[in-house]
Amino acid sequence: MSQIICRDLSLSYNGKTVSEGVSFTVEAGDYLCIVGDNGSGKTTLMKAILGLKLPDKGEILFDKESRVRAGDIGYLPQQTESSKDLPASVYETVLSGFSGKMGLRPFHTKAEREEARKNMERMGVLHLEKKSFSELSGGQRQRVLLARALCAASKILLLDEPVSGLDPNAAADMYSVIQDLNKNLGITVIMITHDIEAVVRYSSKVLRMGTVPTFFGSAEEYEHNSFHSENDEEDKNV
Ligand code: ADP
Repeated sequence: MSQIICRDLSLSYNGKTVSEGVSFTVEAGDYLCIVGDNGSGKTTLMKAILGLKLPDKGEILFDKESRVRAGDIGYLPQQTESSKDLPASVYETVLSGFSGKMGLRPFHTKAEREEARKNMERMGVLHLEKKSFSELSGGQRQRVLLARALCAASKILLLDEPVSGLDPNAAADMYSVIQDLNKNLGITVIMITHDIEAVVRYSSKVLRMGTVPTFFGSAEEYEHNSFHSENDEEDKNV
């Protein structure tokens, strides 16, 4: 079952084309890695999927049967220096994942508070709930933000370079948490990454962005066709 269908998208800023001819599908339970050089349009594509950027051409369709909409996608943004200083406790940070569902309601429901605790437990950060977000290690912060993204949505997660800046142990830990969500909870994962080893190891599908995407297919095909290198001079498949 296709959860997201992107057809012939063109994306630009101020009339300057970033990407065109972007077509791919995301099936329920996929683990799609989006790779490509810096500036190749990966983040812009994520924004389009989240409904934050309108395509100039083409369309993004969400599966009606499983009631997936852009608003049902949990998003883990790239960590920046300023995002590390979030002036909130771990619990408040996770709970803020529900803000898109609250409308004008000023308080969180009991069900939301329980769900937040469940997601913190799932991510192994419940014992940190009273701590300030800014006191956490990089790996703990990412787990907390994943718990937050799970509050926002439980079907699809969009992760923008989730292990960037983490030490090798924390990165391996993060990959294992993401794999668990994908395999055991059936959550569809769409991940921007530069980590080609992880792409080959964990993903089911790969989209390689460029001005025109240069590859979309299974992770096996990607590996087989030697698209390992982020520094490929020439792309051999379109
Ligand atoms: P990637 O995530 O692959 O590094 P981006 O999607 O961030 O690439 O950027 C693609 C291109 O769009 C780059 O040339 C970048 O400079 C440009 N770009 C990104 N965001 C904006 C913006 N808000 N306004 C104008 N140009 C932008």
